[in-house]
Amino acid sequence: MKARGLLFPLLILTHQALQAKTLEQDYPYLETLYKDLHQSPELSLQEKATAQRMAQELKSLGFEVTANVGGFGVVGIFKNGPGPTVLIRTDTDGLPIKEDTGQAYASKKSMKDREGNLQPVMHACGHDIHMTVFSGTARQLIDQKSNWHGTLVMIAQPAEETGMGARAMLNAGLFKKFPRPDYNLALHVSAELQAGDVGFTSGYALANVDSVDIKIRGEGGHGAYPHMTKDPIVLAAQLIQSLQTIVSREIAPIEPAVVTVGSIHGGSKHNIIADDVNLQLTLRSYSPEVRDQTIAAIKRMARGLATAAGLPEEKFPIVTIQDEFTPSVFNHPDLTQRMTAVAKKIVGESHVKEVRPTMGGEDFGQYGRVEPKIPSLIYWLGSVDPETHKKTLAAGKKLPSLHSAQFIPLPEPTIKTGVKMMTAAALDLLNGPESAQRK
Ligand code: ZN
Ligand code: ZN
Repeated sequence: MKARGLLFPLLILTHQALQAKTLEQDYPYLETLYKDLHQSPELSLQEKATAQRMAQELKSLGFEVTANVGGFGVVGIFKNGPGPTVLIRTDTDGLPIKEDTGQAYASKKSMKDREGNLQPVMHACGHDIHMTVFSGTARQLIDQKSNWHGTLVMIAQPAEETGMGARAMLNAGLFKKFPRPDYNLALHVSAELQAGDVGFTSGYALANVDSVDIKIRGEGGHGAYPHMTKDPIVLAAQLIQSLQTIVSREIAPIEPAVVTVGSIHGGSKHNIIADDVNLQLTLRSYSPEVRDQTIAAIKRMARGLATAAGLPEEKFPIVTIQDEFTPSVFNHPDLTQRMTAVAKKIVGESHVKEVRPTMGGEDFGQYGRVEPKIPSLIYWLGSVDPETHKKTLAAGKKLPSLHSAQFIPLPEPTIKTGVKMMTAAALDLLNGPESAQRK
């Protein structure tokens, strides 16, 4: 009895020492991978080389890998006996932005977008960090495969920035052709939290995102004879003003919602009244009810103002809701609480932050919305150099946001924290109480 009592803590200590040593030893590999990925970003729906690289990373560890799942999606499966199935997702696409970080490893890459225009490309949303942490986590989990049982589903998802990738992978049979997860996990770098920190948001964390086009039609003519026309520019101005009252006067004040008119185009010359004006809107919300209410109000106002202007029905505005809808991300509260506790052990209580929900969008939410629903969590990984963080905020300035040409994570603490946290999160789920029930 005495011997056993001594042996157990010793075993734990040795195990932890080994684990820490492995990540330390592995870091140079991960930094090279990160810098390679950072210098070779690819635009959404064109992530061919990136997908190949991710497939190769998983294959080399013994995962069963399937490529081209919903475009350039990659699925890696590692079966390690009976137990829970845990999905870990990375996204893979870059953005059409010219990098301006001054780093030696800054991207100099350009590629043609789908319309054939040459664009500079940058990993300005940190998906290169996501992929590096994803690989590092896979390497840790395979290294430690004697410490867990269950199935790992690791997916590299394309086209997150266009909101199409998760849907494409699900439509390609992600949860039918491959093991269905009991949990879905992902992370996103934060351009506000310091490297070394992780952040959690319980419940709604990121918003429903809709893109809406409105074509306002009028009856054009000479600018000197407005009475002979129906001016769509005046109608557009009225509509834009009216749209502001949806959030301020129609949606309940405690429900988050955004209606932004991001683009307006109409007319060609001072003295010509145009035939039509085109508007482009982004809508944000959390609940499906608020989303529906906002869309219905836009349609109603567009029709109502056209009626008031005396336009016939066939000239009413055309309101098109784009089908690239990204649903809101809901972090399962119990899972969030459980992973917050894991984080406190792994990075220390002072490095675990509660992050407020944002009206940004992420298509990770799709993986949890399938029926029956799957508990899912995306958490924030701090990436800002603590020195820069301190100086910038002390000077009253703003840090570069995600999608900024100046956004650059501090690699070492970000990647190491990311791998430690994601590995611990997966181990906790794979070795949790439900795994005992299944055996
Ligand atoms: Zn992004
Ligand atoms: Zn992103």
